[in-house]
Amino acid sequence: MLTNDQLAQWDRENFFHPSTHLAQHARGETATRVIRTAKGCHIEDRDGVKLLDAFAGLYCVNVGYGRQEIAEAIADQARELAYYHAYVGHGTEASITLSKMILDRAPKGMSKVYFGQSGSDANETNVKLIWYYNNILGRPEKKKIISRWRGYHGSGLVTGSLTGLELFHKKFDLPLSQVIHTDAPYYFRRPDANMTEAQFTAHLVAELEALIEREGADTIAAFIGEPVLGTGGIVPPPEGYWPAMQAVLRKHDILLVADEVVTGFGRLGTMFGSDHYGMTPDLITIAKGLTSAYAPLSGSIVGDRMWKVLEQGTDENGAIGHGWTYSAHPIGAAAGVANLKLLDDLNLVQNAGEVGAYLNAAMTAALGDHPNVGDVRGEGMLCAVEFVKDREKREVFDAADKIGPQVSGALLAEGVIGRAMPQGDILGFAPPFCLTRAEADEVVEKTARAVAKVLG
Ligand code: PLP
Repeated sequence: MLTNDQLAQWDRENFFHPSTHLAQHARGETATRVIRTAKGCHIEDRDGVKLLDAFAGLYCVNVGYGRQEIAEAIADQARELAYYHAYVGHGTEASITLSKMILDRAPKGMSKVYFGQSGSDANETNVKLIWYYNNILGRPEKKKIISRWRGYHGSGLVTGSLTGLELFHKKFDLPLSQVIHTDAPYYFRRPDANMTEAQFTAHLVAELEALIEREGADTIAAFIGEPVLGTGGIVPPPEGYWPAMQAVLRKHDILLVADEVVTGFGRLGTMFGSDHYGMTPDLITIAKGLTSAYAPLSGSIVGDRMWKVLEQGTDENGAIGHGWTYSAHPIGAAAGVANLKLLDDLNLVQNAGEVGAYLNAAMTAALGDHPNVGDVRGEGMLCAVEFVKDREKREVFDAADKIGPQVSGALLAEGVIGRAMPQGDILGFAPPFCLTRAEADEVVEKTARAVAKVLG
C-alpha cells in the first residue's frame, strides 16, 4: 500500500486542486488530506482520523455517506449499461424515470428537465436557453442577465460572471459584459442599522428598479438568484423579498432563474426553495442534492412558458444545438433515482427541517450573545455564524486576521468540519439531512469551544 508521504508527494507534484492556494500547496505549506471512507455524517482519512462533516462535502452529500442502496444502483447500472447518449431521443430507464421523478417533485408550471453534470454547466445551459428564447421571440437586444453580489452560480465563463464574489472575477477578466449585478439581500449588512427587514426589502426592490431603468428593460433577459444565498455567506432573504422582486421582474418581462443547486431536494426542509419562498421561476438549476453527489449529475428544469418557445424555435430552426456527451449519463441517473427514493423512504426532507431548526436554535443559544458574533442565521439544514470586531457597529475584522479560517481550523482540531465561507468571517454549516440531535449538539458545543479558543 502507498504511504501517506508518497501520496502527499505525488499530490504536490501532479494534482491541480480547485479553489486552492496553488503555490503554498506545491511548496508543501498546506496539508494533503487523503480521505479514505465515510459513513453517515462522518468521513475518515487514511490515518484513521474521523471527522463529523457538518458541511456534507460541499453541501451535497444530503442523504449522508455510505448509502449502499445508491452504491448498488450505480453498480447495477454500470454492469447493465454504463453509457449511452441522450441525443435525438435516446434515453435509459433510469434517465426517463428520473426526469419524471424530478417533475413530480418540482414546483408548479415546470415542463421538462435537461441533464448536465455540474451546477456550473446547468447554469451555462440556462443562459444559452434564455438567449435562444429571446432570439426566437424576435428580441435580440433583450440579453443581459441580472445576478446579485454574493450570489454563487459556478465558476465557468458566464457562470463565473454570474457569481458575485470577487475571488471568482479577479484576474480572470470577468464578469462578461452581458452580466450585471444588483445588491445582495443581506439583512445583517443593510446600509442603515435602523432599517426593518421590510424596509430593507423595499430598498432592494428600489435598487432593482433603478438598475432596470438605467439599463433599459428591453436589454434585460433574466434575473438569477439562489433562494438562500449559499457560498456568499448562507443568507436567507429578508421578509417578503422574493414576491416583491418577482413583481418587478414580471412587470418588465424578465425571466426568473432559481438556482437551487444547494436548496433543491430538501435542504430548507421543503423539496424546493422556490416553494419555500413563493417563487415562480422560469428555470430551476439543480445539481448536488439530485444524486447527493454519489455521481455527478445536474439539471435545468424548464418552465412551461419557455418550453413552448423552445419548441417553436426547433420548428423554425431545426434541432436544438445544445448537448453534452454525458447529458443524462445512465450512472448519474441511476444514482439520482436511488437517491430521491431514499429521501422519501427515510423522511429525510422532514428531518432536515426539524433537526436543522434544532441546530439553528442551539447555535443561537450558544453563540448569539458572544461579543464577536454579529449574526447567527439559517434556514432548514443551513446555518451560519458571522464574526465581527464590534457587535454594535457591525464592524468587520481585518481580512488579514483570517478570523473565519482560524475558527474553522480550531473546529477541525475538535473533529468537526465547518466551512470558512470565502468572503467575510463567516463559518457555515450544511450537514447531511440525516444529522441527529446528538450530532447537532456536538457541532454546537465544539463550535463554541473553537470560537472561545480563537476569540476568547
Ligand atoms: N449554483 C450554486 C447555488 C452552487 O452553490 C454551486 C456550487 O456550489 C453551483 C451553482 C456550481 O455547481 P458546480 O460546482 O457543480 O459547478
